[in-house]
Amino acid sequence: MSRIVYVNGRYLPYAQAGVHVEDRGFQFADGVYEVCEVRSGCLVDEEPHMARLGRSLAELAIPPPMSMAALAHVMRETVRRNRVRDGLLYLQVTRGAGPRDFAYPPPEVERTVVCIARPRALESLEAQATQGIAVKSLPDIRWRRSDIKTVMLLPACLAKEAARKEGAQEAWFIDSDGFVTEGASSNAWIVVDGGTVITRQIAPDILAGVTRATLIEGLTRQGISLMERPFRISEAQSAREAFITSATNTVMPVVRIDGAAIGDGKPGPITRQLRSKFHQFAATSVG
Ligand code: PLP
Repeated sequence: MSRIVYVNGRYLPYAQAGVHVEDRGFQFADGVYEVCEVRSGCLVDEEPHMARLGRSLAELAIPPPMSMAALAHVMRETVRRNRVRDGLLYLQVTRGAGPRDFAYPPPEVERTVVCIARPRALESLEAQATQGIAVKSLPDIRWRRSDIKTVMLLPACLAKEAARKEGAQEAWFIDSDGFVTEGASSNAWIVVDGGTVITRQIAPDILAGVTRATLIEGLTRQGISLMERPFRISEAQSAREAFITSATNTVMPVVRIDGAAIGDGKPGPITRQLRSKFHQFAATSVG
């Protein structure tokens, strides 16, 4: 079956889908995006993803291209047309196309909307979760509005590539005071003695992960205590457990940070428990 991509009002075969050469997303990274997990054909946590998309658009003063309900319809229809059962849904909205100019285009310029759904093999994800991943730390060189989910992801690409070269699957960014902000494409967590789970508090320097928020609700339901505060790499390296969260990974154990094994170097029990229960905490929408 050929893949179908939604672009500006049309569902097109993958090879025929494209955007304007002077799209502001391409020229200025002037756009925002969302990634949702698709599970059993349903979008996971659709509502908070749409809410965050609305916020990202508002923060950049990009007028919504259509109602959030219509955008959600596009997302579901893209999943349906591609018959994705388990996979990922990508939605991008840019300020639109126009002669290259830093000033915003006039309001009548249509925003660009692209939606892509792709299946993925859950077996390889599960195999990775069974082993756990390695993380490399790097200075956080991003701008000061990492709370907005923009397509300006070059620092994340550079960090992930540096991590990959050292055999790590994720990078953790370190702020100027030596504290972990978050992963290049995930939120960062540790579990300390006593079983308390720690993750950095929401502020403009990190993205408010949808998976993070869902997991926090889950922690309460599991009777696991949470502290939202910054932590350093040294604290993470001597923690009992560490993990990351994102729509792509849900809860993914971290077993090495900058070469040092976390705990016994295997995914910890609290992390495994949270991973196995995650979809009980999350909301799935009917496709
Ligand atoms: N932090 C960053 C920088 C991200 O790019 C992502 C996801 O892409 C996350 C955190 C996790 O967000 P979510 O759980 O909504 O996928």
